[in-house]
Amino acid sequence: MKKKIRVGRSGIHHRGVFAQADLPKDERIVAYTGRLLTKAQAERSRSLYLFELNRKYDVIGLNIARYINHSCRPNCETEVTGGKIWIRSLRKIKAGEELTYNYHYDLEESKEFPCRCGQEGCVGVILAPQHWKKLRRLRARGERP
Ligand SMILES: [Zn+2]
Repeated sequence: MKKKIRVGRSGIHHRGVFAQADLPKDERIVAYTGRLLTKAQAERSRSLYLFELNRKYDVIGLNIARYINHSCRPNCETEVTGGKIWIRSLRKIKAGEELTYNYHYDLEESKEFPCRCGQEGCVGVILAPQHWKKLRRLRARGERP
C-alpha cells in the first residue's frame, strides 16, 4: 500500500512533508512520535524537532511528523489526546500539497524563528495566531522588527 505522506524538499524550510494522495478534512494523518524529555533535557538537546507537550514535558520527534513545517495559514493542526500527538487535517488536502500546522510559539520564541511560509498574510515569524495582534502593536511602536 502506498503511504499517504512522504518527505520532500520544501520551499519553506529545506525538508517538508507532502501528501501522496488526496486527504480528507478532519482526519488524523500521522502521529508525532518520539521520546519524552523534561524541559531541562529538551533545552540541552538543542534539537530542532521539539514538540511542547505540556508545561513539564517536550517530545523530541523521531518520525516523519517532525519534518512538517510551520505555516501562518496551515492545512493541519495538532491534537493532543491521551498523551498522543496527532497531526490532523483542517481541510481537504490535495496530493502533492505540503502539510503544515501552526507551531504555536509565543512572542518571545518567535524572535528567533522567521517564517517563510509564503502564504498571504504571513506575519514573518513563527507565532501562534492569538499573539498576532500584539505583534502588530509592538511593530507599530517600533519595538519589534
Ligand atoms: Zn508565515
